[in-house]
Amino acid sequence: MKKSLTRTLTLALTLAVGSPLAAAGKGKPAPPPEPAPCDALIAYLESLPVEPLTQSEAESLQFVREEEKLARDAYIALAAKWGQRTFTNIAAAEQAHMDAVKVLLDRYALPDPAEGKAPGAFTNARLQALYDSLLANGVASLTSALTVGATIEDLDIADVERMLSESDNADIDTLSQNLAKGSRNHLRAFVAQLAGLGITYSPQFLGPAEYEAIVASAMEKQVLYDAEGEPVDVLLTGCGGNGRGRR
Ligand code: ZN
Ligand code: ZN
Repeated sequence: MKKSLTRTLTLALTLAVGSPLAAAGKGKPAPPPEPAPCDALIAYLESLPVEPLTQSEAESLQFVREEEKLARDAYIALAAKWGQRTFTNIAAAEQAHMDAVKVLLDRYALPDPAEGKAPGAFTNARLQALYDSLLANGVASLTSALTVGATIEDLDIADVERMLSESDNADIDTLSQNLAKGSRNHLRAFVAQLAGLGITYSPQFLGPAEYEAIVASAMEKQVLYDAEGEPVDVLLTGCGGNGRGRR
């Protein structure tokens, strides 16, 4: 573990230093970074070994790539409808989640189901139907929109936990741990907003005990998790120099 942390920190520092230098060059502006130049999770994922991939792991990665897109597209649409900052902020986090999943699709040479797909369009028919029905609800009222947000996060946590349980690759497990953390924070945010409007959200995918434990606990800020769900603090100070993450 120690060895991999050191390697990761070195990588994160290289990324942090490399980007400003490139931007300072005269002439052509640096091309937009793809993915983000100093994303702690992506730097960490790239430091982990490429392991044999099962069919189930491949399918999970492709599914979750589109499920994160569903969240991003829904929140962008609901932000446009309701002008709520929560949706805008969480949509940005979903883009970061999509980027992180893409890193693993690329490293395992898997086709990207989200490639070329317009906002609100999905390869997976089940996700397409879910998106259409959630959006139809979400435009009805602000409380419906916030309930849609909580529903998406409720589902995402359940699906990402399934990916975690079915995978034995350290990179996929790490991705799952960090996507689940983001979704727990998003769920807490939506549930708190609903509570402020006098609405109690009822979980539809998570078990009641797990749901209660999540909403009763504090936001998980400035933390990156390893494959076992243990914090990897060293990365956040190494990446970006100020310890600020995007999630
Ligand atoms: Zn997400
Ligand atoms: Zn989310």
